[in-house]
Amino acid sequence: MQPHNGQFNFSLDAALGGVTALTRRGFLALGAVGALVAAGCATNPARTSKVPEPIWPDEVAKKPPVRATVVAKSPKDFKFVMDRDGWSRGPCIPSLMNPMLPPRYITVHHDGMSPFLAKDQTSSAARIEIIRTGHRSKGWGDIGYHYVVDRGGRVWEGRAIQWQGAHVKNCNEGNIGICCLGNFDEQSPSPEQLKACETIVAALMAKYRIPVSRVRSHQEWSGARTACPGRSLQREFVQMRAKTLACKSVPSDAARA
Ligand SMILES: [Zn+2]
Repeated sequence: MQPHNGQFNFSLDAALGGVTALTRRGFLALGAVGALVAAGCATNPARTSKVPEPIWPDEVAKKPPVRATVVAKSPKDFKFVMDRDGWSRGPCIPSLMNPMLPPRYITVHHDGMSPFLAKDQTSSAARIEIIRTGHRSKGWGDIGYHYVVDRGGRVWEGRAIQWQGAHVKNCNEGNIGICCLGNFDEQSPSPEQLKACETIVAALMAKYRIPVSRVRSHQEWSGARTACPGRSLQREFVQMRAKTLACKSVPSDAARA
């Protein structure tokens, strides 16, 4: 099983989440290296098939700067969710993302970077921004997760829910991604963080009528070669699902499972 910590695994998680979009658009020919570079969200097909044009120094100077298209702000799903403006220092790029299909799954992750103990808002916001820039550096349109839960018990908006996430290899369609800040192979989630994770998962289950049988951790996806969300969060998550979330599952669970 692939460990899920440190920068390497941070990148791996990012790469895994992104391959889906490429596959959907038929860019298998890009190969493994190309997929890692252009992961997450498809690039413009016309651009990839074109022979590069010569670029002259004076033309480079004349070229207008590439502007990111800023998507209209989406209405927040829940009042308790902190706005992405509170942490994000850059816009998302809609042309690099796919529209979200109706949500059918919820997946819980950790960020898998170095251990993180801070509970304050400023440190938490900075950590989320690090994740976003890491994902953007892979060519993705935004942070790959839809929600982020910090150690102080805050839930932050990540990638707007109108866009498909990038967090589980080949399984991003209709899959809501939730990331808990920290590395839970090396630390334990805080009580506040666990409670907030439970709150957002339960709220999403109710809003989108997602049965508990479709609430998973990253490592529970078939074929997922990852230890995400780490040993301690996995243990807590399994208990949370059995004890609390199962009681809140929609009545149609058996029929839809
Ligand atoms: Zn993960």
